[in-house]
Amino acid sequence: HFEGISMAPPDPILGVSEAFRASTNEMKLNLGVGAYRTEELQPYVLNVVEKAEMLMLERGENKEYLPIEGLAAFNKVTAELLFGVDNPVIKQQRVATVQSLSGTGSLRLAAALIERYFPGAKVLISSPSWGNHKNIFNDARVPWSEYRYYDPKTVGLDFEGMIADIKAAPEGSFILLHGCAHNPTGIDPTPEQWENIADVVQEKNHIPFFDVAYQGFASGSLDADASSVRLFAARGMELMVAQSYSKNLGLYAERIGAINVVCPSADAAARVKSQLKRLARPMYSNPPVHGARIVANVVGEPDLFNEWRKEMEMMAGRIKSVRQKLYDSLTAKDQSGKDWSFILKQIGMFSYTGLNKSQSENMTNKWHVFMTKDGRISLAGLSSAKCEHLADAIIDSFYN
Ligand code: PMP
Repeated sequence: HFEGISMAPPDPILGVSEAFRASTNEMKLNLGVGAYRTEELQPYVLNVVEKAEMLMLERGENKEYLPIEGLAAFNKVTAELLFGVDNPVIKQQRVATVQSLSGTGSLRLAAALIERYFPGAKVLISSPSWGNHKNIFNDARVPWSEYRYYDPKTVGLDFEGMIADIKAAPEGSFILLHGCAHNPTGIDPTPEQWENIADVVQEKNHIPFFDVAYQGFASGSLDADASSVRLFAARGMELMVAQSYSKNLGLYAERIGAINVVCPSADAAARVKSQLKRLARPMYSNPPVHGARIVANVVGEPDLFNEWRKEMEMMAGRIKSVRQKLYDSLTAKDQSGKDWSFILKQIGMFSYTGLNKSQSENMTNKWHVFMTKDGRISLAGLSSAKCEHLADAIIDSFYN
């Protein structure tokens, strides 16, 4: 019976927020979860989201069940936003798009598809990666292994290691790639490196599996941030893409995203979609409508779309400015001459500081900076007023 169940460990990322809430220190700073905060460190609801919600009320929309595959208007715009309206994969109807429970749920649905139709196939995950990737494939009973990604010596990309490991994987493996703004490192391949990655993936008959959780958040441009995915699609490859609107539209709790499977034909796409629906039905039956309508309204209405782009630029700009400020503070305070410029080279919400587990623990225990133990900090949760404090904490933890 239940008596025999042991206590599960806290989640390494969401557990940080729990510890943060429990802390009473006034200097406390939550740099664990990747959620955007204002300069006042408050959660932010985008203006376009409020406008889209007003539209929904005005239209008197109902709360009937969605179909298993989700809201048609959402599925249309989400695939177009990802691939571009004029992409041949869209025109030829080769994409099976199913609305799912944000990025996580979309990854989980894709994992279920792999488990059912590619038994024994392995997923290759970057080392390191977003911590939940391994949980998702473990629970879906999909075998996985890692490919080299981060090079601690350069605090940059281990490109040779990455290519060698993708080459060495069994033919027909799924290669999980972060479309942009790699989490946790903030290090992305260059366009030339993406071409090389596509070469080996193609050579080995692997299937690229993109996780796109930050479209618009890396460069501030939605198109530029989708260029990795589009580069693979342009080669005529089959691929999968999990999308999330948690970060770029700030819809964390609405659980809105999609899984897109690019197939060789419209006919194959229809079959894949039917199987995704068959997998979703016993798992959660059908997805929630609220976030889907928000996205459909924002992406589908040119005025709101343009306003969204401006708000996204504003959010990405604030993160860039605290990134610069943190770098300036570190450089000014650190007498050792250490080169901190890797912080400026990293992109997206996160910075990978290179702090190890015990140094990260010092950040929390002594300085009340709550963060994951891998040395990752979310710059989206940092204000410019707290950059100095953070720089002091990093330097103290680094050298002691
Ligand atoms: N993938 C990556 C790389 C992420 O960073 C995140 C969010 N932290 C997700 C997927 C999923 O987030 P959500 O389920 O909220 O869309």
